[in-house]
Amino acid sequence: MQTIHSPKELQNIIIKERSNGKRIGFVPTMGALHEGHISLVREARKSCDILVLSIFVNPLQFAPSEDLDQYPRTLDEDSRLAQEAGVDFILAPSPNDMYPNGYDSTVSCGGITERLEGESRPGHFDGVTTVVLKLFNIVQPHFAVFGQKDAQQSLVIRRMVEDLNVPVEVIVAPTVRENDGLAMSSRNRYLTKTERDEAAVISEALHESQILFKNGEESVAVLLKKINDKFDTVSTISIEYVALTDLFCNPIKETIETDEVLLSIACRTGEGNTRLIDNVLLK
Ligand code: AMP
Repeated sequence: MQTIHSPKELQNIIIKERSNGKRIGFVPTMGALHEGHISLVREARKSCDILVLSIFVNPLQFAPSEDLDQYPRTLDEDSRLAQEAGVDFILAPSPNDMYPNGYDSTVSCGGITERLEGESRPGHFDGVTTVVLKLFNIVQPHFAVFGQKDAQQSLVIRRMVEDLNVPVEVIVAPTVRENDGLAMSSRNRYLTKTERDEAAVISEALHESQILFKNGEESVAVLLKKINDKFDTVSTISIEYVALTDLFCNPIKETIETDEVLLSIACRTGEGNTRLIDNVLLK
């Protein structure tokens, strides 16, 4: 495995590999790797010759009030995990490598980015689509693997790829969870002991609402109330938003009638002010 910091250097290596007929797989991350990231690597490893993992904490997708400086950066440990999982190249550029002086272009995706996470984090998805398109142009993968954990992000990337005719297949892999159901996240390490214990409520609430739906409940109000009630049992975590939407992230107002339904939640912890998101597909 080789770690490369320069986008240009990796781009040149990939151009050569592609001309030799090699199939390139790609997993973009912000590092602080955990089993969720590694599951994407394993998925990608199944069907490529060359596997690239990027590690880049992208300043463009953080608002000034967010945790850009605090975000864990653990390149040595990440490299060990990536090598074990079969990564061929880590691309680990600096912010200056990605956005040198004079950098002036962004990719913006419209409607789907304005709801859910986009509403809570204005500008966030412009940062995501910009960096992902740049990474796609550097890595030139045949396919890239994203996690269902960030459901809206995957939908936005699919939208961008379709709208802009980007020749990359987008694969979405399931959310990997801790034993108590908490979705793995690099931000879980911010949690205090009580917050960590109580964080299991997030996936439990989603799961209970999912069961209610499977048993025939189609009222949005009832399904969401189940979740709100569950959060009354904890003191350190509160809901920022919880929503039932279609796969364009349009809210479903009263009754579930569409074929595919996404139940998404964003929470904040009181003490550490950590933001956690999770989701399940109801259909
Ligand atoms: P991040 O490093 O948080 O930007 O995540 C990089 C990629 O890993 C994204 O496609 C995420 O959706 C995915 N990912 C993060 N956590 C998980 C998880 N618990 N299960 C599956 N995929 C995940």
